[in-house]
Amino acid sequence: MARIGLFGGTFNPVHNGHIHLAEEAVSELGLSKLILIPSNIPPHKEAGELCSCEDRVQMCRLAAEGKENFEVSLFEINQGGKSYSYYTVEHFSELYPDEEIFLLTGSDMLLSFEKWFRFEDILKKVTLAVVPREYDDSEQLVRKAEELSGFGKIKIISSRPYPVSSTEIRRRIRNGEKYSCYLPEKVVQYIRLKNLYI
Ligand code: ATP
Repeated sequence: MARIGLFGGTFNPVHNGHIHLAEEAVSELGLSKLILIPSNIPPHKEAGELCSCEDRVQMCRLAAEGKENFEVSLFEINQGGKSYSYYTVEHFSELYPDEEIFLLTGSDMLLSFEKWFRFEDILKKVTLAVVPREYDDSEQLVRKAEELSGFGKIKIISSRPYPVSSTEIRRRIRNGEKYSCYLPEKVVQYIRLKNLYI
């Protein structure tokens, strides 16, 4: 049975922390396909600084370029409205009924997972695979995974965290600080070309 990873996010912009998570998941879980799924409107975030769907998709495509097994899906954007992972998981489990599906998230998302729309039903369909975001959250993660284990499978991937966020990158761009080391080179070029986040 092949294994597929679904990786949703705002990707505003996509950064090296996202790529780190995706690559760790591919190698730890042996994924044959990793699908980046930019959200249309994220349900839990302020939309103030959100750049267009086209720009976020394009940056994801640039970040995925040359990476075997990576693809970018327009599913959530084409659905429109707020993007709830439940519907994404439902869609991909119907599309790949014979594959084992993993929903990939950073550790911050595991800690608030019970607030997600129909989280119990998500865990009936996929294994939640979590990559640490910060250096100090491992015990908390294990506790949370145990709490949720009654609903389904949760796998914590033990990898070195790569602590960076899109918020921090946007702040740096706005303030004229260095930011290029946190992003794939082609994404840096795209942000400069389109004058994003200034
Ligand atoms: P923002 O700062 O705008 O809130 P973000 O950096 O958290 O954005 P998102 O696009 O919201 O990025 O995140 C998508 C997914 O990637 C989430 O599951 C999040 O936990 C995970 N993620 C983001 N940054 C990292 C990181 N540095 N390490 C591991 N996971 C990450």
